[in-house]
Amino acid sequence: MTAEPSVFLATIQDQLLRASRLIDVPEHVLTILSQPKNELIVNFPVLMDDGSYRLFKGYRIQHNNLLGPYKGGLRFHPEVRLDDFKALAMNMTFKCSLLDLPFGGAKGGVKCDPTTLSRNELMRVTRRFTHALGDNIGPDQDIPAPDVGTDAQTMVWIMDTFINTQGADRRHAQAGVVTGKPVDCGGTYGREKATGQGLVHCLIAWALERGVRLEGMTALVQGYGKVGSHAALILARLGVSVVGVGDHCGYWLNPEGFNEHRMADHVKARGTIAGYASATTCTREEFFAHKADILIPAALHNQIDEAEARALQVKVVAEGANGPVTAAGDAVLRERGIDVIPDILANAGGVTVSYYEWVQNRRQERWDLEVIDASLEKAMRRCYARVSDLATDRRCSMRDAAFALSLERMIKVYQARGIFP
Ligand code: NAD
Repeated sequence: MTAEPSVFLATIQDQLLRASRLIDVPEHVLTILSQPKNELIVNFPVLMDDGSYRLFKGYRIQHNNLLGPYKGGLRFHPEVRLDDFKALAMNMTFKCSLLDLPFGGAKGGVKCDPTTLSRNELMRVTRRFTHALGDNIGPDQDIPAPDVGTDAQTMVWIMDTFINTQGADRRHAQAGVVTGKPVDCGGTYGREKATGQGLVHCLIAWALERGVRLEGMTALVQGYGKVGSHAALILARLGVSVVGVGDHCGYWLNPEGFNEHRMADHVKARGTIAGYASATTCTREEFFAHKADILIPAALHNQIDEAEARALQVKVVAEGANGPVTAAGDAVLRERGIDVIPDILANAGGVTVSYYEWVQNRRQERWDLEVIDASLEKAMRRCYARVSDLATDRRCSMRDAAFALSLERMIKVYQARGIFP
């Protein structure tokens, strides 16, 4: 049986071609970037709580390391597959290049449903997976971070496992093997909220540019996990009211606006929005067709296809998730004049603060939250302005502009360095 082609991989390959029409891209650079450098698949056994053994499949796709060590999240989800990881890894390469970070792109994870595993089982899956990856990860080689279904605890298990396989004299220099660690275990202040915070910086810049006020606006948020919940909490402080939410269990509306703090507590305790009081359930179609100013997709890829894009009644889509809009959906959004702040810009706050964490680990330093916050704001505002200026100059979408800028940086390096040997 052949697997269905990955819509996400086709979308990002299409994106690469669209950007290459804006700038002059040497053929060999397009060829190199069209495929990942390394595709690692591991099968590893794990002892389950009931005494049985189960075989798990793990992936690490290293797309490109021209600009620095591979960097990208680890996803624990039952529906992960190779081609989607290739697309996610490729997205990371473009994101790091756009933000001018000294990293390449990677992505990986384990095919499993973490909600059905006990804490001990999850720990054993994580540690065995780390062991199976061996020297393919490391602070100068490939640096994972949290993504869907993983968190700071997952990262600290990886760090501990990795460090314990290193020579005694190297142990403490290895903490930067992962980012997104708990602050007490070598993490940085500000990482938890970083992706949501970066997204809000983009929305502030967008509102300034359009001459509108965020205060009083309404938002729909799909996915109330690490990214969606922080974006909602930070927007609430700016007077934006979340009127629709959705997750893997369903969709809910509240025209009065949800209480973002209570909802975040509820999701932390239950793992889903389901069961939250003061919300009316609705269908997925009703959610996407609900009138609001802002849509924040912060769940999985391929969520906004042609039908959803036609139904949307929002002014701007700020992509918290990676690849939430398909190529067909994107064409409709462009045609309808709905602004899109693309994923490689809108959700780049996470990897930017991960970079700050990695630098702190290398230097054995601890930076204050104020320093992190100010640096992130500067990085996001500057990047937003570069993307928006190019989009205005070339009369193209912000997505096309973001990919073109990202490609430009890599082309310069490929041209200066050439291809070894
Ligand atoms: P998470 O696991 O913390 O949250 C995921 C959310 O998506 C949950 O609310 C879950 O219920 C929901 N969800 C899962 N399947 C769904 C479905 N079929 N329909 C609707 N909702 C569904 O993950 P996260 O870290 O918040 O990541 C969310 C997205 O943001 C992903 O696309 C990820 O790649 C991207 N992202 C994350 C970070 C980060 O720092 N965590 C950084 C950049 C981009």
